[in-house]
Amino acid sequence: MTNAHASSAFVYARYSTDQQNQTSIDDQTRVCKKKAALLGLNVIAVRADEAISGSLPVAARPGGKALLEDALAGKFSVLLLEGLDRLSRDLVEQETIVRRLEHRGIRIIGVSDGYDSETDGSSRQLMRGVRGLINETYITDLSSKTRRGMAGQIARGFHVAGPSYGYRSQVAATNGKGEPIGYKLEIVPEEAAIVRRIYDEFGKGLSCQKIAHGLNDDFIKGPRSGTWGVSVLYGSPRKGSGILNNEIYVGKVIWNRSHWVKDPDTHKRVRLDRPKSEWVIEEKPDLRIVSDEQWAKVRERIGGLENRGKGTGTKVTPRRKNTLLGGLIKCGKCGGAVIAVDAHSYGCANAKNHGPTVCAGVRAPRAELERKIIACLRDELVSHANVAEITSEAHDIVRKYIKDMESDRKRRARRLTTASRRASRSTARRPSRSRSVTTALRLFRYRGKPSSWRSTERRSWQLAMKPGT
Ligand SMILES: [Zn+2]
Repeated sequence: MTNAHASSAFVYARYSTDQQNQTSIDDQTRVCKKKAALLGLNVIAVRADEAISGSLPVAARPGGKALLEDALAGKFSVLLLEGLDRLSRDLVEQETIVRRLEHRGIRIIGVSDGYDSETDGSSRQLMRGVRGLINETYITDLSSKTRRGMAGQIARGFHVAGPSYGYRSQVAATNGKGEPIGYKLEIVPEEAAIVRRIYDEFGKGLSCQKIAHGLNDDFIKGPRSGTWGVSVLYGSPRKGSGILNNEIYVGKVIWNRSHWVKDPDTHKRVRLDRPKSEWVIEEKPDLRIVSDEQWAKVRERIGGLENRGKGTGTKVTPRRKNTLLGGLIKCGKCGGAVIAVDAHSYGCANAKNHGPTVCAGVRAPRAELERKIIACLRDELVSHANVAEITSEAHDIVRKYIKDMESDRKRRARRLTTASRRASRSTARRPSRSRSVTTALRLFRYRGKPSSWRSTERRSWQLAMKPGT
């Protein structure tokens, strides 16, 4: 299947951010080239991915994607790797890629793990499976090592996360060389006073909007030097985020609240909340900023708001996208998003959430603005040139659709003919079995055959090859 010369080889190298560095691409390439020289292979190109985790699918990496495209185009016959783990640290992904490449007649050689496509059948498969398993557990080990390390730091009394507003991180211990080995938190008095002000104002019944506007009006720097907004103050009571929900202000540090897992379908990392029973709560009275009374007052008011389901400009409810232009227009004064600020008007989101100090704001009646913009769009769309262009594009789409439908129909017809031919042959041999049962059995067997598996495989390979997937 490959049209490249039998000795033309590609090298693929990858390093991830953990422990390895830039030079490891050169190191990997060097060992691969040395092996190539021993085997009399001619390395014609090197594909590499820098600072990319082995858990990311090969087709989603720039170098990996190019490698797969070159493989499909038959540009090389041998792929040299430092080890199979360079390809992937995901057992399933590694197996899929190796099978696809070997199916195309490409020989894969892992220099350090000794993998070679030319080794005989079962022992090679066994070795590949075991290697894949070891490579995958490395990632699991790494994350539990990190978690163990963090637990150790916490047990030694160190703080392992970034400081919340009101605190700064200080070096708590150093090693023999004077390098920091642990950090602790320390109250920043000026910021602590602001935290108390927020708790007092909210306790008195002020909305988060009013509190944020007031802080911005007084030119007080917000967390991470930003301006004050509703979300910074209110956050999520359930997740304990936002200044009004963070228990650190009453001297309680909470660990192990959530963890990250990889979604096997999207390959994206998603944050999952842990049940309260798994939280680790540490009492740190020296970090307390607000009194129990201040805390209780805030809790009472937030509890009421959450139960009512909507706050009076206090609770942050993500605005439903049920307005025509919300989020599509920008504020002429600050460049922020324009949203429906109430039932009748559009206005600047920054002015609403952060106050007049951040943006003086813009405002327009919803009905009138929508009418005007739709009129502009209509004039724009129905111009002679635009109608011609839209019509031609629509024709293209319909033509392509018909073509796809036609080839799909032909393919199905072919499969049906083959299947019924087999079915009728079998009914002729076994007249006792009903025709429908035989057809079903035949179809089942047909689907299970390697030849049909390969064509399915080829289709998914082609899908993977499409740009942007
Ligand atoms: Zn604005």
